[in-house]
Order: sequence, then structure tokens, then C-alpha cells
Amino acid sequence: MTPRVLTSVLAGEPIDGDEERPDVNPSDLSDVVAVSSIAGPAVARAAVTAAADALPSWSRSTPWQRAEVLDRAGTEIFARADELGDLLAREEGKTYPEARAEVVRAGQILKYFSGVALQPHGQALDSVRPGIEVTVTREPVGVVSVITPWNFPIAIPAWKIAPALAFGNTVVFKPADLVPASAWELVDILIRAGLPAGALNLVLGRGSQVGPVLTGDPAVDAVTFTGSVATGQGILTAGAGSGTKVQLELGGKNPLVVTGKADLRVAVECAMQGGFGSTGQRCTASSILVVTDDVHDAFVAAMTERMTHWRVGDARAEGTDMGPVVDAGQYAQDRRYLDVARAEGADIIGGDEVDAGASGHYLSPALALGTSMADTINREEVFGPVMSVVRVADYDGALEAANAGTMNLSAGIVTTSLAEAAHFRRNSRAGMVMVNLPTAGVDFHVPFGGRGESSHGPREQGTAAVDFFTTSKTSYTAPGSP
Ligand code: NAD
Repeated sequence: MTPRVLTSVLAGEPIDGDEERPDVNPSDLSDVVAVSSIAGPAVARAAVTAAADALPSWSRSTPWQRAEVLDRAGTEIFARADELGDLLAREEGKTYPEARAEVVRAGQILKYFSGVALQPHGQALDSVRPGIEVTVTREPVGVVSVITPWNFPIAIPAWKIAPALAFGNTVVFKPADLVPASAWELVDILIRAGLPAGALNLVLGRGSQVGPVLTGDPAVDAVTFTGSVATGQGILTAGAGSGTKVQLELGGKNPLVVTGKADLRVAVECAMQGGFGSTGQRCTASSILVVTDDVHDAFVAAMTERMTHWRVGDARAEGTDMGPVVDAGQYAQDRRYLDVARAEGADIIGGDEVDAGASGHYLSPALALGTSMADTINREEVFGPVMSVVRVADYDGALEAANAGTMNLSAGIVTTSLAEAAHFRRNSRAGMVMVNLPTAGVDFHVPFGGRGESSHGPREQGTAAVDFFTTSKTSYTAPGSP
């Protein structure tokens, strides 16, 4: 069957790009999921104009109109979860259960922000001066550029687009090149749910070409970006010159501490799910296992045993524990970091090419043993099914190692000691802390984000979303004013 061609969508209308790019299934490289028509800067500029034109009307729409659109879109996503989950697994390579759960998450996010649209967000209060009334209102920021990575093709776009629309902003959305089909479906669903033309526009284009327009055009009021530290820092620099509001969610280098007081079974499951779930391609993935000396050998033995039963294969095949790496570039990066770790003295378990019966980027889960926090593998983000083990003397050494990095997104501890758990929660420098849970796996109704190089600007999701997607206005009215 000829793959369908996906185009950018401006003011509700499809618009062709200049070249075509195949959207390839990483489980089977002969399977072309779709073809993207890749647009250039002119289409990006037109998309910003479409969003700016739609802003006066959408920003004055009623909360009920906005709530209804998001609610209807969420309902459609739930109804099509099997089909959209299959598409996501096929184009990104996470397993079907993981992909379907991500689709359901996107539906939940839309429903949640449907409710948020109807909530009060302002304040009316007395002035400190007699008779004067003060109101603090929340207004839309304006035109928002939404730029997303490939590893959560529908959930990350949903958690940026839904609050943007709920608070009356208009959007230009640029998904990652590797996952255009899930992005296109989300936009199509939202538009058919009743968005007016131009409130949400889709640009399928390369970041290096359309990115400068979406982050630098004077008509763009805010940029919300999730992706790598390097790209994010470039956007921040560009935004600083123009005064554009910028929110960045970037890399993560997430430690999971295992102490001698841990339940070993819980520790192994937290590490396996946190490190190898979604093929380790999560910003919140556990990448450093910080293990105290007293439990180190038993933990490594239990992990090694568990890893031999971790089935790597086609993302959509029944019984697959871990799908392929997303593409050849990421695969090469994962292998390169394992080579560097080996050269720096680590012993590597796993990390081998897997023959899963079809052409695909299959890599077995890998553990680098005998590493220190100074090693390259513990300082840089690998973004694959690769974890390293750092052996420390005791809990104090574990906390010190866990806090030693610069991309402090999520950190976890596995312990049955209330004292260790409480101390770690208070003293971890990460933006999110997990106790006896994997470092990955978060809720949508609470703030999400990291510290250090990992995040910039207001937190995303939940109650925090209002901070980025609105701007606050304080008004004073004199006594006796009409
Ligand atoms: P990336 O930085 O390569 O790309 C992210 C997006 O930016 C893509 O849509 C890309 O096309 C676009 N882009 C590229 N150059 C651009 C430019 N000059 N201007 C504007 N946009 C540009 O990241 P990726 O490889 O797609 O994703 C993996 C990264 O994302 C990892 O570092 C991961 O940790 C991070 N991530 C972070 C979070 C979080 O919430 N902290 C969540 C998921 C992924």
C-alpha cells in the first residue's frame, strides 16, 4: 500500500512542503508508515501569521467553548486508543502497551485541561489604600510555538497544546521529524473537535530550517520547547534578544539509589522499568544506579539475571518487553557511549545487537559496571537502554553521588528505611523525587520539571501550567469609578 502523505496544516488547510521524508518503522525498516511533506521557513512564517490572525477571536472565546473542544478531542482519543497506540508503536518503536498508555495519557491531559479552562484563575481584593479595588487577571500570552521531541510523540504535544488552548492562546506546533503521524492525528482531532481556523497550526519541517522562524519571528510571544540541552540553549539565547517568553524541558541524567535497606525485588523492578522502559528513551529514565557497597553484588547479580529474560523485539509483537532504538543515529550513539565506558574502565553486560527476525535497530539492554560519577557515561545523556552502576560506601555517599550531576530532572531511592526515604526526599537536588518507584512515570495534574540544565522557566503540566501559558495583569480602580 502506498504510504499516505502528511502535510503541514495552516488555518485548517493542508499545505505542501518542498521535499518528502519517509516516516520509517524502527522495528522494520522496510515499513514506511507515512511520508512527510517537509516545509521550509516560508510555511513556518505563514503558520505564525495564521496563529496571529486567529488570536483576537480565540483569546476572547468563552471558557466553555475552549473546554468543549478539549473534552471532545479527549473523547475521540480514548475511543481510538487502540488504533493510535498501534500507530505510535509503529512509528516510534515503544511497545504497544507503552504506546497505547501514552495515547490514553494524551486523552487524559486534554480532559484535565478542559476542566482547567473552566476554573477561576483571577483574584479580586481590597487595595492597601482606602476604597481602591484591585483585580489580578490571567490573560493569554498570545501566539505560542510548541516544539517537541520524538520520544513522546503524542503526550508531550498534548501537555503543551492543551494548556495553551485552554488559556486562550493560539499555537504553531512543530513536532520532531521522526514522528509526524502521531502529531498529525492529534492536530486533526483537535481541529475537528471545533477549533476555529488558525487556532492550531502544524508545521512539518526541519528544526534547523523552520526553528529560527518559530523561535525568532516577532509575532511569536512564547516558545515552549522539549528536547536536547544543546538545542534548548540555542533557543534560549535567541529568545533572550527578543524578549520572547521561553519554557524549556531538556535532558535528564537521573540517578536511582539502591541502599542496603532496599527490598531487592523492588529495586530490580524499579531499575528495569525506569531504565529500559520505552527503550530507555525517556528524559526521566534511570541512567545511573547508585548502589551501596553492602548490596552491590547481590543487586548486580539480580539485575543481570533479570536482563537475560528481557525480550527485545518488534514493538507491536505480543510479549515484547522492549522495542527497538528509534533510528540509526540514536543506535550509533548508544553503542558509542558503551565503547567510551569500556575504554574508561567499565565492564559491560549486554548492549549487543539483537537479531529480532526483522530489520530494525535492536539493542539488548546494557549495564556498565564499575563506573564513577566522573566517567563520561555518568555525565552525558545516552538516551538509550543503557544504565551504569556506581558503587558507594553508604547512604551519605549515595546522596552525594545522586546530587553530583547537572541535569537534575528526576531522582529515586529504593529503601525500606523511612529515615533514608525522608532524608532523600528533602535533600535530593532533582525536580522530581521517587521513593520505591522508577524515576520515570509521572502524573499530569501536578508540576513536571527539573533543576540545573534540565529545565528553564515555569514548570509544565497540572497546576503549574497557568504560569507559562498566561500573563498576569494587575488592575486598580479608584473609588466611585463607573
Ligand atoms: P532535539 O533537541 O534534537 O529536537 C527537539 C525538537 O527541536 C525537534 O522537533 C527538532 O526538530 C527541533 N529543533 C531542532 N533544531 C532546532 C532549532 N534550531 N530551533 C528550533 N527547534 C529545533 O531533541 P530530540 O532528539 O528530538 O529529543 C531527545 C531529547 O529530548 C533528549 O535530550 C531528552 O532528554 C529530551 N527530552 C526532555 C524531556 C523533558 O521533559 N525534560 C522530555 C522528553 C525528551
